[in-house]
Amino acid sequence: MSLIPDELIEQVRDAADLVGVIGEHVELKRTGADYRGPCPFHGGTHRNFAVIPKKGMYYCFVCHEAGDVFTFFMKKLGMDYPTAVREVARRAGITIPERGPTGPDPREPLFQAVAAAHDWFQRQLRESPEGQVARDYLASRHLDPETTGVLGLGFGPRGKAFLEGMKQLGVKEELLLEAGLLVKRDDGSIIPRFRERVLFPILDLRGRVVAFGGRVLGDGEPKYLNSPETPIFHKGQMLYNLHAARHAMRKAERAVLVEGYFDTIRLALAGIEEVVAPLGTGLTSDQAELLKRHTEHVILLYDSDEAGLRATFRAGDELLHHGLRVSVATLPEGEDPDTLVQREGGAALERVLRDAVDVFDRKLQILERRGMLGTLPGRRRALDRLLPTIRAARDPITKELYLARAAEAAHVRKDVLEREVSVQGVTGVRSSPPSPTQTAPDSRLPAPSNAERVLLLVLLAGDPWRARVLEAASPDMFEFAAYREVFEAVRSDDPSRLDSTAARLYEQLAAEKLAEREPGAMLEDALNKIAARGLDRRIETIDRAMSVAGPDEQRALIMKKQQLTAERNAKSPTYKIATRRKGAPGS
Ligand SMILES: [Zn+2]
Repeated sequence: MSLIPDELIEQVRDAADLVGVIGEHVELKRTGADYRGPCPFHGGTHRNFAVIPKKGMYYCFVCHEAGDVFTFFMKKLGMDYPTAVREVARRAGITIPERGPTGPDPREPLFQAVAAAHDWFQRQLRESPEGQVARDYLASRHLDPETTGVLGLGFGPRGKAFLEGMKQLGVKEELLLEAGLLVKRDDGSIIPRFRERVLFPILDLRGRVVAFGGRVLGDGEPKYLNSPETPIFHKGQMLYNLHAARHAMRKAERAVLVEGYFDTIRLALAGIEEVVAPLGTGLTSDQAELLKRHTEHVILLYDSDEAGLRATFRAGDELLHHGLRVSVATLPEGEDPDTLVQREGGAALERVLRDAVDVFDRKLQILERRGMLGTLPGRRRALDRLLPTIRAARDPITKELYLARAAEAAHVRKDVLEREVSVQGVTGVRSSPPSPTQTAPDSRLPAPSNAERVLLLVLLAGDPWRARVLEAASPDMFEFAAYREVFEAVRSDDPSRLDSTAARLYEQLAAEKLAEREPGAMLEDALNKIAARGLDRRIETIDRAMSVAGPDEQRALIMKKQQLTAERNAKSPTYKIATRRKGAPGS
Protein backbone atom coordinates (compact mmCIF):
# COMPACT_ATOMS: atom_id res chain seq x y z
CA MET A 1 0.00 0.00 0.00
CA SER A 2 1.17 3.47 -0.72
CA LEU A 3 1.93 5.23 2.53
CA ILE A 4 0.60 8.58 1.48
CA PRO A 5 -2.89 9.05 2.94
CA ASP A 6 -5.71 9.69 0.49
CA GLU A 7 -6.59 13.01 2.13
CA LEU A 8 -3.07 14.24 1.59
CA ILE A 9 -3.08 13.14 -2.05
CA GLU A 10 -6.34 15.02 -2.54
CA GLN A 11 -4.83 18.06 -0.90
CA VAL A 12 -1.81 17.88 -3.22
CA ARG A 13 -4.01 17.51 -6.27
CA ASP A 14 -6.10 20.49 -5.21
CA ALA A 15 -3.03 22.60 -4.59
CA ALA A 16 -1.25 21.62 -7.81
CA ASP A 17 -0.89 24.23 -10.50
CA LEU A 18 -1.92 21.98 -13.39
CA VAL A 19 -1.55 24.66 -16.04
CA GLY A 20 1.84 25.72 -14.68
CA VAL A 21 3.15 22.16 -14.49
CA ILE A 22 2.04 21.17 -17.96
CA GLY A 23 2.98 24.61 -19.26
CA GLU A 24 6.63 23.76 -18.58
CA HIS A 25 6.40 21.07 -21.23
CA VAL A 26 3.77 22.40 -23.58
CA GLU A 27 3.17 25.89 -24.90
CA LEU A 28 -0.37 26.52 -23.71
CA LYS A 29 -2.76 29.21 -24.85
CA ARG A 30 -5.95 30.07 -23.08
CA THR A 31 -9.21 29.29 -24.85
CA GLY A 32 -12.19 30.15 -22.70
CA ALA A 33 -11.93 28.33 -19.39
CA ASP A 34 -9.42 25.80 -20.78
CA TYR A 35 -5.92 25.86 -22.20
CA ARG A 36 -4.85 24.38 -25.50
CA GLY A 37 -1.48 23.39 -26.92
CA PRO A 38 0.28 20.84 -29.11
CA CYS A 39 0.08 17.36 -27.61
CA PRO A 40 3.36 16.22 -26.00
CA PHE A 41 2.32 12.58 -26.16
CA HIS A 42 1.76 12.03 -29.86
CA GLY A 43 3.98 14.97 -30.83
CA GLY A 44 1.23 16.93 -32.55
CA THR A 45 1.70 20.40 -33.97
CA HIS A 46 -1.91 21.57 -33.76
CA ARG A 47 -3.58 22.67 -30.56
CA ASN A 48 -5.46 19.46 -29.93
CA PHE A 49 -4.26 18.99 -26.39
CA ALA A 50 -6.57 20.50 -23.78
CA VAL A 51 -5.80 21.28 -20.16
CA ILE A 52 -9.03 21.67 -18.20
CA PRO A 53 -8.24 23.23 -14.81
CA LYS A 54 -11.84 23.03 -13.63
CA LYS A 55 -11.76 19.26 -13.92
CA GLY A 56 -8.09 18.96 -12.96
CA MET A 57 -7.42 16.97 -16.11
CA TYR A 58 -5.84 17.05 -19.55
CA TYR A 59 -7.10 15.39 -22.71
CA CYS A 60 -5.81 15.03 -26.28
CA PHE A 61 -8.50 15.04 -28.93
CA VAL A 62 -6.20 13.19 -31.35
CA CYS A 63 -4.35 10.48 -29.42
CA HIS A 64 -6.84 10.53 -26.49
CA GLU A 65 -4.23 10.60 -23.77
CA ALA A 66 -5.99 11.77 -20.63
CA GLY A 67 -5.24 12.14 -16.95
CA ASP A 68 -4.54 14.42 -14.02
CA VAL A 69 -1.43 16.17 -12.78
CA PHE A 70 -0.01 12.92 -11.38
CA THR A 71 -0.53 10.89 -14.55
CA PHE A 72 1.13 13.69 -16.50
CA PHE A 73 4.34 13.22 -14.53
CA MET A 74 4.04 9.44 -14.74
CA LYS A 75 3.49 9.34 -18.47
CA LYS A 76 5.69 12.25 -19.52
CA LEU A 77 8.59 11.74 -17.14
CA GLY A 78 8.23 8.04 -16.35
CA MET A 79 7.71 8.45 -12.60
CA ASP A 80 5.80 5.93 -10.51
CA TYR A 81 2.68 7.11 -8.72
CA PRO A 82 4.16 7.91 -5.27
CA THR A 83 7.09 9.73 -6.85
CA ALA A 84 4.74 11.79 -8.98
CA VAL A 85 2.68 12.70 -5.92
CA ARG A 86 5.84 13.72 -4.05
CA GLU A 87 7.07 15.81 -6.94
CA VAL A 88 3.76 17.66 -7.28
CA ALA A 89 3.62 18.12 -3.50
CA ARG A 90 7.15 19.55 -3.45
CA ARG A 91 6.21 22.13 -6.07
CA ALA A 92 3.02 23.00 -4.21
CA GLY A 93 4.97 23.41 -0.96
CA ILE A 94 3.25 20.51 0.79
CA THR A 95 5.33 18.23 2.97
CA ILE A 96 4.77 14.51 2.72
CA PRO A 97 6.14 12.27 5.46
CA GLU A 98 9.07 10.09 4.36
CA ARG A 99 8.42 6.69 2.91
CA GLY A 100 8.40 3.89 5.45
CA PRO A 101 9.38 0.25 5.12
CA THR A 102 6.22 -0.77 3.27
CA GLY A 103 6.70 -1.80 -0.32
CA PRO A 104 4.66 -0.85 -3.36
CA ASP A 105 0.93 -1.50 -3.51
CA PRO A 106 0.50 -5.22 -4.29
CA ARG A 107 -2.59 -4.33 -6.29
CA GLU A 108 -0.54 -2.27 -8.74
CA PRO A 109 -0.56 -4.97 -11.48
CA LEU A 110 -4.33 -5.10 -11.24
CA PHE A 111 -4.63 -1.34 -11.73
CA GLN A 112 -2.34 -1.60 -14.73
CA ALA A 113 -4.32 -4.43 -16.28
CA VAL A 114 -7.56 -2.49 -15.93
CA ALA A 115 -5.93 0.63 -17.36
CA ALA A 116 -4.73 -1.35 -20.39
CA ALA A 117 -8.22 -2.78 -20.85
CA HIS A 118 -9.70 0.71 -20.58
CA ASP A 119 -7.42 2.00 -23.35
CA TRP A 120 -8.40 -0.94 -25.50
CA PHE A 121 -12.16 -0.48 -24.92
CA GLN A 122 -11.88 3.22 -25.75
CA ARG A 123 -10.10 2.40 -28.99
CA GLN A 124 -12.87 -0.02 -29.96
CA LEU A 125 -15.46 2.69 -29.43
CA ARG A 126 -13.53 5.19 -31.55
CA GLU A 127 -12.27 3.02 -34.35
CA SER A 128 -13.53 -0.52 -34.65
CA PRO A 129 -16.11 -1.17 -37.40
CA GLU A 130 -18.05 -3.24 -34.93
CA GLY A 131 -18.15 -0.22 -32.63
CA GLN A 132 -20.45 1.58 -35.05
CA VAL A 133 -23.49 0.20 -33.25
CA ALA A 134 -22.17 1.75 -30.02
CA ARG A 135 -21.35 5.06 -31.71
CA ASP A 136 -24.86 5.15 -33.19
CA TYR A 137 -26.39 4.34 -29.84
CA LEU A 138 -24.45 7.08 -28.06
CA ALA A 139 -25.36 9.56 -30.80
CA SER A 140 -29.00 8.66 -30.20
CA ARG A 141 -28.40 9.61 -26.56
CA HIS A 142 -26.99 12.94 -27.75
CA LEU A 143 -23.37 12.15 -26.94
CA ASP A 144 -20.89 13.05 -29.67
CA PRO A 145 -17.47 11.40 -30.09
CA GLU A 146 -15.58 14.33 -28.53
CA THR A 147 -17.70 14.11 -25.41
CA THR A 148 -17.50 10.35 -25.09
CA GLY A 149 -13.74 10.69 -25.53
CA VAL A 150 -13.39 13.13 -22.65
CA LEU A 151 -15.65 10.90 -20.55
CA GLY A 152 -13.48 7.88 -21.34
CA LEU A 153 -16.37 5.73 -22.55
CA GLY A 154 -15.53 2.45 -24.25
CA PHE A 155 -17.00 -0.45 -26.14
CA GLY A 156 -16.71 -4.16 -25.46
CA PRO A 157 -17.30 -6.03 -28.73
CA ARG A 158 -18.88 -9.45 -29.22
CA GLY A 159 -16.66 -12.51 -29.47
CA LYS A 160 -13.13 -12.91 -28.23
CA ALA A 161 -11.40 -9.87 -29.71
CA PHE A 162 -10.74 -8.58 -26.19
CA LEU A 163 -8.79 -11.75 -25.32
CA GLU A 164 -6.69 -11.34 -28.46
CA GLY A 165 -6.10 -7.65 -27.86
CA MET A 166 -4.94 -8.21 -24.29
CA LYS A 167 -2.66 -11.06 -25.32
CA GLN A 168 -0.98 -8.81 -27.86
CA LEU A 169 -0.38 -6.22 -25.15
CA GLY A 170 1.04 -8.89 -22.88
CA VAL A 171 -1.59 -8.46 -20.16
CA LYS A 172 -1.87 -11.66 -18.14
CA GLU A 173 -5.09 -13.65 -18.20
CA GLU A 174 -5.03 -14.24 -14.42
CA LEU A 175 -5.04 -10.50 -13.82
CA LEU A 176 -7.97 -9.98 -16.15
CA LEU A 177 -9.84 -12.77 -14.40
CA GLU A 178 -9.07 -11.21 -11.04
CA ALA A 179 -10.22 -7.83 -12.33
CA GLY A 180 -13.48 -9.45 -13.44
CA LEU A 181 -12.94 -8.50 -17.07
CA LEU A 182 -12.75 -12.15 -18.09
CA VAL A 183 -15.10 -14.87 -16.92
CA LYS A 184 -14.37 -18.57 -16.68
CA ARG A 185 -17.36 -20.63 -17.77
CA ASP A 186 -18.36 -24.00 -16.36
CA ASP A 187 -16.80 -25.81 -19.27
CA GLY A 188 -13.48 -24.13 -18.48
CA SER A 189 -13.52 -21.76 -21.44
CA ILE A 190 -12.74 -18.11 -20.85
CA ILE A 191 -14.78 -15.25 -22.34
CA PRO A 192 -14.87 -11.48 -21.91
CA ARG A 193 -17.40 -10.27 -19.36
CA PHE A 194 -18.46 -7.24 -21.38
CA ARG A 195 -19.74 -8.29 -24.79
CA GLU A 196 -21.58 -5.87 -27.03
CA ARG A 197 -21.82 -3.23 -24.37
CA VAL A 198 -21.05 0.45 -24.04
CA LEU A 199 -18.67 0.77 -21.11
CA PHE A 200 -18.54 3.49 -18.47
CA PRO A 201 -15.24 3.59 -16.61
CA ILE A 202 -15.58 3.71 -12.82
CA LEU A 203 -12.78 5.65 -11.15
CA ASP A 204 -11.56 5.55 -7.58
CA LEU A 205 -10.83 8.74 -5.66
CA ARG A 206 -7.30 8.77 -7.02
CA GLY A 207 -8.60 8.87 -10.54
CA ARG A 208 -7.65 5.29 -11.42
CA VAL A 209 -10.06 3.17 -13.43
CA VAL A 210 -11.02 0.23 -11.21
CA ALA A 211 -14.13 -1.19 -12.88
CA PHE A 212 -16.70 -0.71 -15.63
CA GLY A 213 -20.43 -0.44 -15.93
CA GLY A 214 -21.73 -1.86 -19.18
CA ARG A 215 -24.96 -0.89 -20.95
CA VAL A 216 -26.14 -3.56 -23.34
CA LEU A 217 -26.72 -2.67 -26.99
CA GLY A 218 -29.84 -4.30 -28.30
CA ASP A 219 -32.14 -6.47 -26.26
CA GLY A 220 -29.70 -8.53 -24.19
CA GLU A 221 -29.99 -9.05 -20.46
CA PRO A 222 -29.18 -7.62 -18.05
CA LYS A 223 -29.53 -4.10 -19.33
CA TYR A 224 -26.70 -2.95 -17.09
CA LEU A 225 -23.83 -5.14 -16.01
CA ASN A 226 -21.06 -4.03 -13.66
CA SER A 227 -17.65 -5.42 -12.87
CA PRO A 228 -17.87 -7.83 -9.94
CA GLU A 229 -16.28 -7.12 -6.58
CA THR A 230 -12.50 -7.26 -6.90
CA PRO A 231 -9.56 -6.30 -4.70
CA ILE A 232 -9.73 -2.80 -6.23
CA PHE A 233 -13.50 -2.44 -6.63
CA HIS A 234 -16.01 -2.49 -3.78
CA LYS A 235 -19.17 -1.25 -5.37
CA GLY A 236 -21.02 -0.61 -2.13
CA GLN A 237 -18.27 1.77 -1.06
CA MET A 238 -17.88 3.82 -4.20
CA LEU A 239 -20.06 6.17 -6.16
CA TYR A 240 -20.01 6.75 -9.88
CA ASN A 241 -18.36 10.10 -10.72
CA LEU A 242 -17.37 10.91 -7.12
CA HIS A 243 -13.80 11.43 -8.26
CA ALA A 244 -14.89 14.31 -10.47
CA ALA A 245 -17.84 15.51 -8.40
CA ARG A 246 -16.38 15.93 -4.94
CA HIS A 247 -14.77 19.30 -5.57
CA ALA A 248 -17.97 20.63 -7.05
CA MET A 249 -19.85 19.24 -4.04
CA ARG A 250 -17.77 21.30 -1.70
CA LYS A 251 -18.30 24.41 -3.76
CA ALA A 252 -22.02 23.88 -4.36
CA GLU A 253 -22.54 22.66 -0.79
CA ARG A 254 -24.75 19.90 -2.08
CA ALA A 255 -24.62 16.62 -3.93
CA VAL A 256 -27.11 15.47 -6.51
CA LEU A 257 -27.81 11.75 -6.49
CA VAL A 258 -29.20 10.17 -9.65
CA GLU A 259 -29.88 6.58 -10.57
CA GLY A 260 -27.64 5.83 -13.51
CA TYR A 261 -24.66 6.56 -15.70
CA PHE A 262 -26.48 8.50 -18.39
CA ASP A 263 -28.25 10.77 -15.91
CA THR A 264 -24.93 11.47 -14.22
CA ILE A 265 -23.32 12.40 -17.52
CA ARG A 266 -26.27 14.50 -18.60
CA LEU A 267 -26.22 16.57 -15.42
CA ALA A 268 -22.45 16.96 -15.44
CA LEU A 269 -22.54 18.15 -19.04
CA ALA A 270 -25.25 20.63 -18.11
CA GLY A 271 -22.82 22.13 -15.59
CA ILE A 272 -24.21 20.38 -12.51
CA GLU A 273 -20.94 18.71 -11.70
CA GLU A 274 -21.72 17.68 -8.13
CA VAL A 275 -23.64 14.66 -9.41
CA VAL A 276 -23.03 11.03 -8.47
CA ALA A 277 -24.86 7.71 -8.77
CA PRO A 278 -24.80 4.47 -6.81
CA LEU A 279 -23.37 1.56 -8.76
CA GLY A 280 -26.29 -0.53 -9.87
CA THR A 281 -27.63 -1.18 -6.39
CA GLY A 282 -29.73 0.71 -3.90
CA LEU A 283 -27.80 3.30 -1.94
CA THR A 284 -25.73 1.54 0.72
CA SER A 285 -24.88 2.75 4.20
CA ASP A 286 -21.22 3.05 3.18
CA GLN A 287 -22.15 5.18 0.20
CA ALA A 288 -24.21 7.48 2.41
CA GLU A 289 -21.22 7.79 4.73
CA LEU A 290 -19.03 8.58 1.75
CA LEU A 291 -21.37 11.38 0.70
CA LYS A 292 -21.40 12.70 4.24
CA ARG A 293 -17.65 13.25 3.98
CA HIS A 294 -18.13 15.67 1.13
CA THR A 295 -21.42 17.40 1.76
CA GLU A 296 -24.26 17.97 4.20
CA HIS A 297 -27.11 18.16 1.73
CA VAL A 298 -28.15 15.62 -0.88
CA ILE A 299 -30.77 16.18 -3.55
CA LEU A 300 -32.29 12.99 -4.93
CA LEU A 301 -33.24 13.07 -8.59
CA TYR A 302 -34.68 9.67 -9.45
CA ASP A 303 -37.43 8.53 -11.78
CA SER A 304 -40.90 9.49 -10.63
CA ASP A 305 -42.49 6.14 -11.40
CA GLU A 306 -43.46 3.74 -8.63
CA ALA A 307 -40.08 1.97 -8.58
CA GLY A 308 -38.24 5.28 -8.72
CA LEU A 309 -40.19 6.63 -5.76
CA ARG A 310 -39.50 3.54 -3.70
CA ALA A 311 -35.80 3.87 -4.48
CA THR A 312 -35.97 7.59 -3.66
CA PHE A 313 -37.38 7.07 -0.20
CA ARG A 314 -35.13 4.13 0.59
CA ALA A 315 -32.12 6.24 -0.31
CA GLY A 316 -33.63 9.18 1.56
CA ASP A 317 -33.95 7.17 4.78
CA GLU A 318 -30.39 5.93 4.43
CA LEU A 319 -29.09 9.47 4.03
CA LEU A 320 -31.16 10.82 6.91
CA HIS A 321 -29.79 8.04 9.03
CA HIS A 322 -26.33 9.45 8.40
CA GLY A 323 -27.38 12.92 9.48
CA LEU A 324 -27.59 14.39 6.00
CA ARG A 325 -30.23 16.84 4.90
CA VAL A 326 -32.22 15.27 2.09
CA SER A 327 -34.34 16.89 -0.60
CA VAL A 328 -36.21 15.37 -3.50
CA ALA A 329 -36.30 16.98 -6.92
CA THR A 330 -39.10 16.03 -9.27
CA LEU A 331 -38.89 16.16 -13.03
CA PRO A 332 -41.91 17.29 -15.02
CA GLU A 333 -44.17 14.37 -15.91
CA GLY A 334 -42.80 12.19 -18.68
CA GLU A 335 -39.36 13.85 -18.74
CA ASP A 336 -35.96 12.47 -17.89
CA PRO A 337 -32.84 14.62 -17.52
CA ASP A 338 -31.90 13.95 -21.14
CA THR A 339 -35.24 14.95 -22.69
CA LEU A 340 -35.49 17.97 -20.42
CA VAL A 341 -32.07 19.28 -21.44
CA GLN A 342 -32.81 18.65 -25.12
CA ARG A 343 -36.03 20.62 -24.95
CA GLU A 344 -35.27 23.38 -22.50
CA GLY A 345 -31.53 23.45 -21.96
CA GLY A 346 -29.38 22.88 -18.88
CA ALA A 347 -30.95 25.73 -16.92
CA ALA A 348 -34.19 23.74 -16.75
CA LEU A 349 -32.38 21.10 -14.71
CA GLU A 350 -31.09 23.68 -12.29
CA ARG A 351 -34.65 24.93 -11.86
CA VAL A 352 -35.82 21.41 -11.06
CA LEU A 353 -33.10 21.12 -8.43
CA ARG A 354 -33.91 24.49 -6.95
CA ASP A 355 -37.52 23.42 -6.51
CA ALA A 356 -36.50 20.32 -4.58
CA VAL A 357 -38.48 19.79 -1.38
CA ASP A 358 -37.51 18.09 1.84
CA VAL A 359 -37.81 14.32 1.54
CA PHE A 360 -40.40 14.14 4.30
CA ASP A 361 -42.54 16.83 2.71
CA ARG A 362 -42.34 14.98 -0.59
CA LYS A 363 -43.56 11.83 1.09
CA LEU A 364 -46.44 13.70 2.70
CA GLN A 365 -47.31 15.29 -0.63
CA ILE A 366 -47.57 11.91 -2.30
CA LEU A 367 -49.64 10.39 0.49
CA GLU A 368 -51.94 13.36 0.39
CA ARG A 369 -52.35 13.14 -3.39
CA ARG A 370 -53.31 9.53 -3.02
CA GLY A 371 -56.02 10.58 -0.65
CA MET A 372 -54.54 8.61 2.22
CA LEU A 373 -54.81 11.44 4.71
CA GLY A 374 -58.55 11.78 4.22
CA THR A 375 -59.73 8.60 5.93
CA LEU A 376 -58.98 6.98 9.25
CA PRO A 377 -57.54 3.70 7.88
CA GLY A 378 -55.70 5.72 5.25
CA ARG A 379 -54.08 7.87 7.94
CA ARG A 380 -52.93 4.78 9.78
CA ARG A 381 -51.32 3.43 6.62
CA ALA A 382 -49.85 6.84 5.86
CA LEU A 383 -48.30 6.94 9.31
CA ASP A 384 -46.76 3.53 8.73
CA ARG A 385 -45.09 4.96 5.65
CA LEU A 386 -43.91 8.05 7.49
CA LEU A 387 -42.55 6.39 10.61
CA PRO A 388 -39.42 4.89 9.01
CA THR A 389 -38.43 8.32 7.75
CA ILE A 390 -39.01 9.94 11.13
CA ARG A 391 -36.99 7.21 12.76
CA ALA A 392 -34.21 7.51 10.20
CA ALA A 393 -33.70 11.20 10.94
CA ARG A 394 -30.58 11.34 13.05
CA ASP A 395 -30.58 15.05 13.53
CA PRO A 396 -32.80 15.78 16.56
CA ILE A 397 -34.19 18.99 15.12
CA THR A 398 -35.14 17.33 11.88
CA LYS A 399 -36.75 14.51 13.81
CA GLU A 400 -38.74 16.94 15.93
CA LEU A 401 -39.94 18.74 12.87
CA TYR A 402 -40.98 15.53 11.13
CA LEU A 403 -42.86 14.40 14.21
CA ALA A 404 -44.80 17.62 14.34
CA ARG A 405 -45.66 17.46 10.65
CA ALA A 406 -46.74 13.83 10.80
CA ALA A 407 -48.86 14.40 13.88
CA GLU A 408 -50.60 17.29 12.22
CA ALA A 409 -51.15 15.49 8.92
CA ALA A 410 -52.51 12.31 10.47
CA HIS A 411 -54.45 14.08 13.24
CA VAL A 412 -52.75 12.26 16.08
CA ARG A 413 -51.24 13.74 19.20
CA LYS A 414 -47.54 14.39 18.87
CA ASP A 415 -46.65 12.69 22.15
CA VAL A 416 -48.49 9.55 21.06
CA LEU A 417 -46.57 9.51 17.83
CA GLU A 418 -43.34 10.23 19.63
CA ARG A 419 -43.85 7.17 21.78
CA GLU A 420 -44.54 5.03 18.75
CA VAL A 421 -41.40 6.28 17.07
CA SER A 422 -39.18 5.53 20.02
CA VAL A 423 -40.75 2.19 20.97
CA GLN A 424 -40.56 0.79 17.49
CA GLY A 425 -37.19 2.38 17.07
CA VAL A 426 -35.77 0.09 19.72
CA THR A 427 -37.17 -3.09 18.25
CA GLY A 428 -37.17 -1.87 14.66
CA VAL A 429 -35.25 -3.48 11.84
CA ARG A 430 -32.86 -0.60 11.71
CA SER A 431 -30.33 -1.20 14.40
CA SER A 432 -26.85 0.11 14.07
CA PRO A 433 -24.47 1.09 16.83
CA PRO A 434 -24.72 4.69 17.94
CA SER A 435 -22.31 6.82 16.01
CA PRO A 436 -19.76 8.94 17.89
CA THR A 437 -21.10 11.93 16.04
CA GLN A 438 -24.63 11.33 17.22
CA THR A 439 -26.01 14.04 19.39
CA ALA A 440 -27.94 13.13 22.47
CA PRO A 441 -31.54 14.11 21.89
CA ASP A 442 -32.67 17.36 23.47
CA SER A 443 -29.10 18.55 23.94
CA ARG A 444 -29.74 21.45 21.63
CA LEU A 445 -33.41 22.10 21.53
CA PRO A 446 -33.66 25.14 19.34
CA ALA A 447 -34.33 28.42 21.01
CA PRO A 448 -35.70 31.32 19.04
CA SER A 449 -32.63 32.83 17.40
CA ASN A 450 -32.31 36.52 16.81
CA ALA A 451 -30.63 36.09 13.43
CA GLU A 452 -33.57 33.97 12.31
CA ARG A 453 -35.97 36.60 13.56
CA VAL A 454 -34.14 39.35 11.68
CA LEU A 455 -34.28 37.29 8.54
CA LEU A 456 -38.05 37.07 8.88
CA LEU A 457 -38.39 40.78 9.62
CA VAL A 458 -36.54 41.62 6.41
CA LEU A 459 -38.62 39.00 4.60
CA LEU A 460 -41.79 40.75 5.72
CA ALA A 461 -40.51 44.24 4.85
CA GLY A 462 -42.08 44.06 1.38
CA ASP A 463 -40.37 43.96 -1.98
CA PRO A 464 -37.59 43.96 -3.03
CA TRP A 465 -36.58 42.57 0.38
CA ARG A 466 -38.97 39.66 0.25
CA ALA A 467 -37.41 38.47 -3.01
CA ARG A 468 -33.87 39.02 -1.69
CA VAL A 469 -34.52 36.89 1.40
CA LEU A 470 -36.27 34.15 -0.56
CA GLU A 471 -33.28 34.07 -2.87
CA ALA A 472 -30.69 33.94 -0.11
CA ALA A 473 -32.36 31.88 2.59
CA SER A 474 -33.71 28.34 2.78
CA PRO A 475 -36.00 26.65 5.32
CA ASP A 476 -33.13 24.68 6.85
CA MET A 477 -31.55 27.90 8.07
CA PHE A 478 -34.33 28.13 10.64
CA GLU A 479 -33.78 25.88 13.61
CA PHE A 480 -36.68 27.31 15.53
CA ALA A 481 -39.60 25.36 14.12
CA ALA A 482 -42.15 28.17 14.29
CA TYR A 483 -39.81 30.56 12.49
CA ARG A 484 -39.24 27.96 9.82
CA GLU A 485 -42.96 27.54 9.39
CA VAL A 486 -43.42 31.27 8.95
CA PHE A 487 -40.66 31.34 6.35
CA GLU A 488 -42.17 28.45 4.45
CA ALA A 489 -45.64 29.94 4.57
CA VAL A 490 -44.37 33.21 3.10
CA ARG A 491 -42.35 31.36 0.52
CA SER A 492 -45.32 29.34 -0.66
CA ASP A 493 -47.51 32.43 -0.27
CA ASP A 494 -49.88 30.56 1.97
CA PRO A 495 -50.03 31.89 5.54
CA SER A 496 -53.27 29.96 6.06
CA ARG A 497 -51.23 26.79 6.48
CA LEU A 498 -49.77 28.06 9.75
CA ASP A 499 -50.92 26.53 13.00
CA SER A 500 -52.15 28.86 15.69
CA THR A 501 -48.78 29.44 17.41
CA ALA A 502 -46.97 30.13 14.18
CA ALA A 503 -49.82 32.27 12.90
CA ARG A 504 -49.64 34.48 16.00
CA LEU A 505 -45.90 34.79 15.53
CA TYR A 506 -46.39 35.71 11.90
CA GLU A 507 -48.78 38.50 12.82
CA GLN A 508 -46.40 39.86 15.46
CA LEU A 509 -43.48 39.88 13.05
CA ALA A 510 -45.52 41.45 10.27
CA ALA A 511 -46.61 44.23 12.62
CA GLU A 512 -43.09 44.95 13.83
CA LYS A 513 -41.28 47.85 12.19
CA LEU A 514 -37.72 47.40 11.03
CA ALA A 515 -35.15 49.26 13.08
CA GLU A 516 -33.41 52.25 11.50
CA ARG A 517 -30.70 50.01 10.07
CA GLU A 518 -30.59 49.43 6.36
CA PRO A 519 -32.38 46.11 5.55
CA GLY A 520 -29.56 44.97 3.25
CA ALA A 521 -27.00 45.23 6.03
CA MET A 522 -29.33 43.51 8.49
CA LEU A 523 -29.89 40.71 6.00
CA GLU A 524 -26.21 40.18 5.37
CA ASP A 525 -25.46 40.20 9.06
CA ALA A 526 -28.18 37.63 9.80
CA LEU A 527 -27.10 35.36 6.95
CA ASN A 528 -23.50 35.44 8.13
CA LYS A 529 -24.53 34.65 11.70
CA ILE A 530 -26.59 31.69 10.56
CA ALA A 531 -23.81 30.42 8.32
CA ALA A 532 -21.38 30.74 11.23
CA ARG A 533 -23.77 28.80 13.47
CA GLY A 534 -23.95 26.00 10.89
CA LEU A 535 -20.18 25.86 10.83
CA ASP A 536 -20.08 25.85 14.64
CA ARG A 537 -22.33 22.80 14.59
CA ARG A 538 -20.01 21.02 12.22
CA ILE A 539 -17.01 21.93 14.32
CA GLU A 540 -18.77 20.52 17.40
CA THR A 541 -19.41 17.31 15.50
CA ILE A 542 -15.73 17.08 14.62
CA ASP A 543 -14.75 17.65 18.24
CA ARG A 544 -16.97 14.78 19.30
CA ALA A 545 -15.61 12.53 16.57
CA MET A 546 -12.04 13.45 17.46
CA SER A 547 -12.22 11.79 20.86
CA VAL A 548 -12.83 8.38 19.34
CA ALA A 549 -10.82 8.70 16.13
CA GLY A 550 -7.60 6.90 15.29
CA PRO A 551 -4.42 8.91 14.58
CA ASP A 552 -4.96 9.04 10.81
CA GLU A 553 -8.58 10.04 11.15
CA GLN A 554 -7.57 12.64 13.72
CA ARG A 555 -5.16 14.24 11.29
CA ALA A 556 -7.91 14.48 8.69
CA LEU A 557 -10.33 15.83 11.28
CA ILE A 558 -7.88 18.46 12.42
CA MET A 559 -7.41 19.62 8.85
CA LYS A 560 -11.15 19.74 8.34
CA LYS A 561 -11.61 21.62 11.57
CA GLN A 562 -8.99 24.22 10.66
CA GLN A 563 -10.69 24.77 7.35
CA LEU A 564 -14.12 25.11 8.96
CA THR A 565 -12.83 27.40 11.68
CA ALA A 566 -11.31 29.71 9.09
CA GLU A 567 -14.57 29.73 7.18
CA ARG A 568 -16.48 30.33 10.36
CA ASN A 569 -14.36 33.26 11.46
CA ALA A 570 -14.70 34.81 8.05
CA LYS A 571 -18.47 34.66 8.41
CA SER A 572 -18.67 36.07 11.89
CA PRO A 573 -15.39 36.91 13.59
CA THR A 574 -15.52 36.36 17.29
CA TYR A 575 -12.45 38.33 18.29
CA LYS A 576 -11.51 40.43 15.29
CA ILE A 577 -13.10 43.51 13.84
CA ALA A 578 -15.58 42.25 11.30
CA THR A 579 -14.18 42.48 7.81
CA ARG A 580 -16.53 42.03 4.91
CA ARG A 581 -15.47 39.08 2.87
CA LYS A 582 -15.79 39.14 -0.85
CA GLY A 583 -18.53 36.83 -2.02
CA ALA A 584 -20.27 36.68 1.32
CA PRO A 585 -23.99 36.08 0.97
CA GLY A 586 -25.91 39.24 0.39
CA SER A 587 -22.88 41.22 -0.77
ZN1 LIG B 1 -2.08 13.49 -28.40
